[in-house]
Order: sequence, then structure tokens, then C-alpha cells
Amino acid sequence: MARVSGGSEAIVRIGVLALQGDVREHLAAFRRAGAEALPVRTAEELRSVDALALPGGESTTMSRLIRVFGLEAPLRRRLAAGMPTFSTCAGTILLSREILDGTPDQLALGVLDLRTRRNGYGRQLESFELDLELPLAEAGAFRAVFIRAPVIEGCGPGVEVLASHQGRAVAVRQGAHLSFTFHPEMTGDLRLHRLFLATAVGEGAGRRSLPPTETLLPTEDSAA
Ligand code: GLN
Repeated sequence: MARVSGGSEAIVRIGVLALQGDVREHLAAFRRAGAEALPVRTAEELRSVDALALPGGESTTMSRLIRVFGLEAPLRRRLAAGMPTFSTCAGTILLSREILDGTPDQLALGVLDLRTRRNGYGRQLESFELDLELPLAEAGAFRAVFIRAPVIEGCGPGVEVLASHQGRAVAVRQGAHLSFTFHPEMTGDLRLHRLFLATAVGEGAGRRSLPPTETLLPTEDSAA
């Protein structure tokens, strides 16, 4: 099992935002990579996880469902408190600072300093695959599957580009956030899920020894 670094024996618990999209694939990938993984649909479930994966799917639908399920404020609070994230495709769109070709009311949670264009590869190229070189401990190219993928048109100074295609970033790291415009959960290659467990989650989970933000900030109910 993946364990939090720094002497703690706690098993890393990854939440997968489970409102829409390829949730099952992420749950399976994180479990196979040695983490505990559970679907997140409520604020309570969100409170219980060390880190959150935001899957691929449809960012406008997920955006709407985040609001319907009352998750926007709890999500913003956990993100502001430094919760690590692992995001793919639509999930990466949701976390971006600026979304191009989105709907006017679409959520841009803004933890990633990215300008992201939805469906940026155009209609002719709805899906494609390619081999990427990524800085991974275990050698070998990574087969990347792109499905109606966004194009990252701009990255802020704090964003580290891990891989590019046609001069545009397709894999990035920003602090404890690891984000992709493709789908690492679809090929059975666990190296990126493992990278997240080994790096971002270890650091983020270390910060959890501080009191949880929920004890410092009013909850949804008490703030109403
Ligand atoms: N085109 C989708 C969106 O805009 C993303 C596609 C995907 O996640 N595979 O949200």
C-alpha cells in the first residue's frame, strides 16, 4: 500500500470526484497503485480524503453537478488549503484559471495557472493517441490517449511542463497538482498515478498534520 511519507503509517486515501465521467477507471488505477480510493459526491466524503482526482468526462456537466451537489464551496476550501489534485482532461479544464470556449457559467476553480481551450484540437481530431516522453522513474514512453481534449494555450510561471505535443503542454505539475489533457487511467499504465502518490500526496498529506480547515472555517450549515 502507498503510505504517507515522513514516518506516518497512514494509508493514502484518494477521492475521485464521482459526479460524471471516467470515475471507475481512476478508482481502479489508484487501488492498483496501492492507495485507498473512494468516490466523492458529498462534502463529508471530500473531507475524508488526502487528495482528489478529477476525471475526464464533460467539464460543463461536472461544473453543473458540482453546484447541484453543493460541492463548490467545500471544494474551494480544500483547494485553498492545499489539497493535492490529479486531473485528467475535463478535470484539468475545471481546475484551470481561464477557460476558452467554455459556457459562460462554467466553473474555473483556478488552482492551476493555465489558460485552457475546450476541444482545442477541433472536430477532425476528436481522438488520437501518441507516445510521450515523461520524466518517470520507470523507463519507457507513455501511451497517451486524447479524447476531445483541451489545448493548454498558456501556462503561468509556477507551472512545470512535463510533456508537450505540437508545442503545447499536455502534462504539467504545479506544486502538489499533477494534470494531463490526456487519459492515463485508460491504458493500464500506472506510472503517473504512482508518481502522484509518491510526490504530491506525500507533501500534501504532511500538511494535514495542521488542524483540518473545517475546524477553522465555518461549514456550509453554520455559514448559512
Ligand atoms: N471536451 C470535454 C470537456 O470540454 C473533455 C473531454 C474529456 O474529458 N475526455 O469537458
